[in-house]
Amino acid sequence: MTAETTIARHRALVGLGGNLASSFGTPQETVAAAMHALKEVGRVTAQSSLYETAPVDYAVQPPFINAVVCVETALEPQSLLDALLAIERRFGRERAGSIPKGPRVLDLDLLLFDDQIIRSNGLTVPHPELARRRFVLAPLAEIAPALRHPLLGKTMAELLEALPDEGANRRGAVRRLS
Ligand code: AMP
Repeated sequence: MTAETTIARHRALVGLGGNLASSFGTPQETVAAAMHALKEVGRVTAQSSLYETAPVDYAVQPPFINAVVCVETALEPQSLLDALLAIERRFGRERAGSIPKGPRVLDLDLLLFDDQIIRSNGLTVPHPELARRRFVLAPLAEIAPALRHPLLGKTMAELLEALPDEGANRRGAVRRLS
């Protein structure tokens, strides 16, 4: 048996977003570099296009760049979240004193982890906002349209289709870039 077959493999969907420049460049270059950095946590099996999206909740800030990546990983959920938070820090993410839902260099969210349902102190999976946000569902449905939400029982394509075309969820608020 090879090492490959003895390692527990999980499928994690990770959401990326940011709207401030970093040492990696513009928000677009920063999110692209972070997608590359996710190779550190496992094997990247799919990555969405980059999307330019209108800010949600806190409107007076630049547009965001969002994307979603699928990673096969041997890490368990909490270790994976810790690794994601470490990547955020390395990219210059400052949490202290920042405005909730405000401008940020990089945000990494653990959206889905196999079909696990996790509600611990510091980790909720599926990510609670996943099904309510077009800026998450558009890139997610691009790479995993048939993937089912373990609590809602609907596929990512169905959840995207069901979103109301209004406010920050209007179709025009989420524009595919590449
Ligand atoms: P935020 O940067 O506002 O997205 O919040 C990040 C914090 O939310 C982290 O420190 C985590 O402890 C917590 N959290 C809970 N569930 C998740 C999740 N599924 N993905 C990312 N962060 C999560």
